[in-house]
Amino acid sequence: MPITRKRLTIDLTEKKVFCEEISLNERRRFLGGRGLNISKLFKMTHQNTDPLGPDNVLIIGGGLLNGLYFGRLNISAKSPESGYLGDSNIGGYFPSELARTGIGQIIITGKSKDPVYILINNNNVEIRKASHLWGLDTYETQIKIREELKCPDAKILCIGPAGENLVRFASVASGYKSMAGRTGMGAVFGSKNLKALVAIGSKPFQIFDPSMFQKTIIAVTEKLMKTGWAKALGRFGSPLLLHYANEKGFLSYRYHQKTSIGRDAESIEAEALDKYATGMVACSGCPVHCRHRYNSDSKFGMLKGEGPEYASVSSFGNQLGNLDIEAVLHLVGICNRLGIDTISGGGYLGWALTLYEKGIIDEKLTGLKLEWGNVDAIEKLLYKIAKREDFGDILADGVFAAKKLPEEAKKYLMHIKNISIEMTDERVVKAFALGLATSTRGCCHMRSRVSIDVVQYPRELLAKFYEADVGQSYKEYTGKSKMVHWHEVFNAMVDSVGICRFASVFSSINAIDYEDIAKLLYSATGIDLTPLELKELGERIYTLERLYIVREGIRRKDDTLPDHYFDVPVPDGPAKGHFIDRAEFEKMLDEYYELHGWDKNGVPKKETLVKLGLEEYSEN
Ligand code: SF4
Repeated sequence: MPITRKRLTIDLTEKKVFCEEISLNERRRFLGGRGLNISKLFKMTHQNTDPLGPDNVLIIGGGLLNGLYFGRLNISAKSPESGYLGDSNIGGYFPSELARTGIGQIIITGKSKDPVYILINNNNVEIRKASHLWGLDTYETQIKIREELKCPDAKILCIGPAGENLVRFASVASGYKSMAGRTGMGAVFGSKNLKALVAIGSKPFQIFDPSMFQKTIIAVTEKLMKTGWAKALGRFGSPLLLHYANEKGFLSYRYHQKTSIGRDAESIEAEALDKYATGMVACSGCPVHCRHRYNSDSKFGMLKGEGPEYASVSSFGNQLGNLDIEAVLHLVGICNRLGIDTISGGGYLGWALTLYEKGIIDEKLTGLKLEWGNVDAIEKLLYKIAKREDFGDILADGVFAAKKLPEEAKKYLMHIKNISIEMTDERVVKAFALGLATSTRGCCHMRSRVSIDVVQYPRELLAKFYEADVGQSYKEYTGKSKMVHWHEVFNAMVDSVGICRFASVFSSINAIDYEDIAKLLYSATGIDLTPLELKELGERIYTLERLYIVREGIRRKDDTLPDHYFDVPVPDGPAKGHFIDRAEFEKMLDEYYELHGWDKNGVPKKETLVKLGLEEYSEN
């Protein structure tokens, strides 16, 4: 049964492995994945923990239903990119394979003297030498490990050169395209000399009530697949969102200079990928199959891979002034091989290209002509970042690179809580803007992303769904705090169950919801939590994450947006004239804190901690 999956603690300094039960009480309070991870991370790190030091812990936690229905896990640690909370969700096939080994969570402590990888083969756990893998990219690493183990089906999480060289926004890869991208978890792998984690599992799953579970899966899947959203995702993948962003004026062109580029965007919209795609594939156990697989010749040679997601297309397309889809596929493929997060990577590159355009940095410093859309220069810079060479060594430090650049560079750096601004510009979509400002892992659209607000639902329907007046339009401030709060709490719970964000309530109110999850959980595990209790569980997880960053010094002053959002109205296009009004923003923030039960400074109130059963954490 999923609730009997074990926790492994692996000390890389002493090369010791310890296996224990995950208690039912922990499962009922945090389920798995993101929730169970923060419950451990909070206690095992502290304010003085160096994100790249041996005292940081790396936690890999599978969602509770991992492998049964969908398969996703979270990788959490103190973040080298921000210095605060690090946490990243990944799909693909590793999560469900890990579940088949009987393991639900892995906690990695210490640091190995030499490069290693960890092999979990059902009940056997081995720490193996990986010096021969050091320096290989993520694709080569996976091929080599499978050959070495003579196991073509082994599932692997690994880092590329960027993680090895402690690039602060290095990702962790699995397969061609599944990436735990944000917050630099790849650098934490690298800091521990950990090249990869390998899972080979064949344990059968035991289900609490197989017949009820099967019926529930069928009903939930039918409901999900009837939504226009799931159908569109299965046809176009997440890149379909680029069209919306451009149409409504919330994409970032050339690092937020414009928010719409009219028909010019067509060259990088979802349909442009058709020429290269050989079909659509899915992560384990997912009926949606939203990922393009491509294998195609191009002016850059063979393009082979999966994806890319909307966020990656947009980060290496419009964000960098590059409207050539082949070049986007090429550059995103390089990021995936090197293990560089495409969103943060595109953000820091956008900043560098802005500084170059403004003459704040020049070719003498960069060694490259960092002009908008200069694919050759961008490609070279990606390799320099991954190897920490020349100007790439500076940029590899993310926001901390500003210390090594002329003072004026800071003025153009856009970030929230030390995480780079993304490939969208939220001046017109007020709920998106609030969600970025309040996300517990720094600038991140996935903590809340109220996509529903930009889909044309009748407002009465939305008011009913959120049980509040949510305004007449996504351009208003009314009710947006309610929407952001709703999704933050729901998503925290969904990530802990291990269901994909795209399949749960995200862009469709008819996708997988609280009721569905309550039924799935009960029939699979026997854990009977009502939708209301699941809501409280999501609130518990989100509040604990907040408590984590509050302990690191985060307060209301940090729940904000770059000045650009407040001071510069969108110059043209469908969002022309929009900006974030400071007074309205503060009002949204007040309402938002109130909904969470936090004080005016964004600190969870004592009574909230008591209500959520989090008192033990306030004492840490
Ligand atoms: S919907 Fe989610 S789980 Fe399914 S294929 Fe897409 S990313 Fe993977």
